[in-house]
Amino acid sequence: MKSILSAKNISELFFQLKSNKELSIVGGCTNIEELPEKSISTHGILELNHITRHERFLEIGAGTTLSQILEIGKNHLPSVLYEALLSIANPIIRNMATIGGNICIEGHKHTLFAPLIALDTKLEFQSPNDTKFEALQNLKKIPDSYILKNIRVPLLYPEISIFRRIGPEHAITQHSASFVFLGDTEKNSLIDIRLAFAGPFVFRSRALENSIIGHRLPLTKKDIDEIQEMVEREFQRAATDQMISDVVRQQFLNLTRYSLEQLT
Ligand SMILES: Cc1cc2nc3c(=O)[nH]c(=O)nc-3n(C[C@H](O)[C@H](O)[C@H](O)COP(=O)(O)OP(=O)(O)OC[C@H]3O[C@@H](n4cnc5c(N)ncnc54)[C@H](O)[C@@H]3O)c2cc1C
Repeated sequence: MKSILSAKNISELFFQLKSNKELSIVGGCTNIEELPEKSISTHGILELNHITRHERFLEIGAGTTLSQILEIGKNHLPSVLYEALLSIANPIIRNMATIGGNICIEGHKHTLFAPLIALDTKLEFQSPNDTKFEALQNLKKIPDSYILKNIRVPLLYPEISIFRRIGPEHAITQHSASFVFLGDTEKNSLIDIRLAFAGPFVFRSRALENSIIGHRLPLTKKDIDEIQEMVEREFQRAATDQMISDVVRQQFLNLTRYSLEQLT
């Protein structure tokens, strides 16, 4: 019979993981098709279930549910994150699904990835005797014998914040992806821009963004055509050898053009 264990705190969680090598860590199990024989959940562990507000960032425990984060409210979360959370599944699933689970799913990137990458989110991993920090954008896989403990989300409120889902609503398929565009302006010039895509693979290029920053506003049609060409080249390069359909690729490019047009 399959069993899901619980732990009172992180030390007990690591004790159980150490004593039973077959035990795997889970969140709300909403993304697991076939439950492992024995698992242990992040639910109910206080150190993994908290939202701490700092001046410039939010620290969110990996076992915090999507509903708990939404409860912070629209005005206290970066809008791309709020919209992404609200677009996931339905309220019943969001009451069980954790932010840690959304990030740790292997393979196809889920809905929160693009907003969290655009915001420059950092992850804190914990092992029985060590702590590691890593930018979400550089994450390849969860380091062996570590668990995801905290997610540090910078609180950014740029003038232009665009989040869009590509593919079906409220579900994940091979055709799902998310798109984020953030833009900030000052005295008729573009002072920050962030463009992120995540789904079959992750795309964000600071070098590309830096080459767009500094443009005078409003952007002309010629500016947009030139930027669009650069983005297309970089995206194409990142998409080489990746499983991405022409429809998803085209939707990413259309959304990029639409976002740039908000700066005219
Ligand atoms: C009907 C339905 C609709 C859905 N729609 C969406 C959608 O629109 N967008 C979307 O993104 N997802 C969607 N999902 C998938 C899922 O609900 C979410 O991605 C959710 O956030 C996963 O969280 P979880 O806690 O349930 O993860 P789990 O299923 O418990 O775990 C997922 C993976 O993460 C690992 N993991 C979990 N926590 C940790 C940790 N702290 N440290 C290390 N590894 C860990 C687990 O081992 C597992 O491999 C949907 C699911 C359903 C059933």
